[in-house]
Amino acid sequence: MAQHSKVDEVVASGRVKRHIFKPSGRELWTVVGSRIDHYIDLEQPYCSCKDFYYHMIRSSNRTCYHIEAARLAKQTNRYTETTLNDEEYQQILVAIIKDLTAKKKKI
Ligand SMILES: [Zn+2]
Repeated sequence: MAQHSKVDEVVASGRVKRHIFKPSGRELWTVVGSRIDHYIDLEQPYCSCKDFYYHMIRSSNRTCYHIEAARLAKQTNRYTETTLNDEEYQQILVAIIKDLTAKKKKI
């Protein structure tokens, strides 16, 4: 049996979700983690996880396995899709910013 990478495992277990916001048509991806969900913007690319944050400040490696999983899920159409309104997009952004602010307090 072929060895599955962490990325394959995340996609195969259905933990990647695509959220489409109306009427703007913006999209945001989430990967369900063991403790918290991670928010991914594939166009930036951006992920709200700690790995991505540390990679970003230490090197030019702007990726993490959540971004890889979201890319793979998109390519292979293996994701859950939900439609939300733009008001909810703002609420999610506020939650992400709060999360980042909490992490930055240590620096
Ligand atoms: Zn990540």
